[in-house]
Amino acid sequence: MSQLREECGVFGVFSPQKQDVASLVYYGLFALQHRGQESCGIVVNDDGLFHDYKDTGLVQDVFTSDHLKLLEEGNMAVGHVRYGTTGSNERSNAQPIVVNHHKGRMALAHNGNLVNAYQIRQSLEEEGCIFHTTSDTEVISYVITKNRVKSSSIEEAVSLSMNTIDGAYSLVVMSPSKLIAVRDKRGYRPLCYGITDDETYIVASETCALDSVGAKFIREIEPGEIVVFTKDGVRSIKEHCKKEKPQICIFEYIYFARPDSVIDGISVHEARKRAGVCLALEHPTDADVVIGVPDSGLDAALGYSQQSGIPYGIGFIKNKYIARTFISPGQKSRENKVRIKLNVLSSTVKGKRVILVDDSIVRGTTSARIVKQLREAGATEVHVMSAAPPFIAPCYYGTDVDSKENLIACRYSISEIKEKIGADSLGYLNIDSLKNIICHKNATGFCKGCFTGEYATQIPEKTNKDRFEKKISEK
Ligand code: SF4
Repeated sequence: MSQLREECGVFGVFSPQKQDVASLVYYGLFALQHRGQESCGIVVNDDGLFHDYKDTGLVQDVFTSDHLKLLEEGNMAVGHVRYGTTGSNERSNAQPIVVNHHKGRMALAHNGNLVNAYQIRQSLEEEGCIFHTTSDTEVISYVITKNRVKSSSIEEAVSLSMNTIDGAYSLVVMSPSKLIAVRDKRGYRPLCYGITDDETYIVASETCALDSVGAKFIREIEPGEIVVFTKDGVRSIKEHCKKEKPQICIFEYIYFARPDSVIDGISVHEARKRAGVCLALEHPTDADVVIGVPDSGLDAALGYSQQSGIPYGIGFIKNKYIARTFISPGQKSRENKVRIKLNVLSSTVKGKRVILVDDSIVRGTTSARIVKQLREAGATEVHVMSAAPPFIAPCYYGTDVDSKENLIACRYSISEIKEKIGADSLGYLNIDSLKNIICHKNATGFCKGCFTGEYATQIPEKTNKDRFEKKISEK
């Protein structure tokens, strides 16, 4: 409900024998649907022949049983769910991308955004390259393909390409004989792999997708690592690119990832609960009940309740059959959808002083509407708690935390925001508490750019958003 859209989700399968790999990818993408609802696709590798299908829409709508049958059996497959943070929401931008090149073919699916996509694309266009999409993924596939011509293997081409592309990218790449998983050298976006009982390797953006196909988690792909799956086994390549301090997106824990996922050894659910605990310590408030905004505010609300001793209540019933709020093309229908999507349980809030915990506050419009709904249902006080610090800067790594003019915390003080959303009080998670929600040996290795305005990479001089289309926020 924070008016943010996730990036994308990737999934890959390497099986020692031919099987219905398309169905495995289907279940995996279904588990990753929260990471992107605009389009999805699957490419199956059947002895070097690639069969693919992709379209705009949700996984369950795009892939009927007939479509899955058409993909046929194989021993490898890659899949993707997309929300386009760069590149427009068109079928042509759906992934995975399939490329036929001088030495064979390749399918590629990508989660993240490059910070130098514009420069790379410009120089490729000047060399005569023609692009069919507006996504960063096509830029990556061009760079890998160019390097493939002068490399002895696809993994060598990927390794060389990592010296050129910069920013956030978790990739699954499939050649006729190999499945390759790649995470950028700072590890912005999650990527892990596991194995099923019949020794099929699964690569996925989140562990919840491994669970969905019965795969046992093996480990994360490390920042900067290339993992190659072949019939001869699994090979890791790490010593090929300059080491950088990890920059795992802290907002994966707060909002993007599913609470039943574990990222870099940290349970997303537990991290969110700890955010609630920190909020309770930082903003103690007299109240009768603590409620969370479904879904990503619920865990933090539980943490707030446990720390404060104020009872936890179910304040909203969410209509599960509605697509994400933010697919609405206009503000008016977006607001209507908020109402349709969330209904207040008045028995929880009527006559009560309510603490309302949300994962974050972006534009503030959703918070204002929810506060109003609670008051209309009889809440006597509404105290809003954000489980994230104020957004003060954009994200360049594959999310739509957008330009400053759309971030309410860039335009107003906290007391002004409190007034605007109609709350009795407003508390944000302290920026210093972010390290407490992670509680991990890598606690300094996280990106907090949208909360601090400090980034570990160059800031893109131009983004694809600027170049090819209206900003998402201008819709
Ligand atoms: S800028 Fe914010 S949303 Fe983007 S990667 Fe960093 S922490 Fe995540």
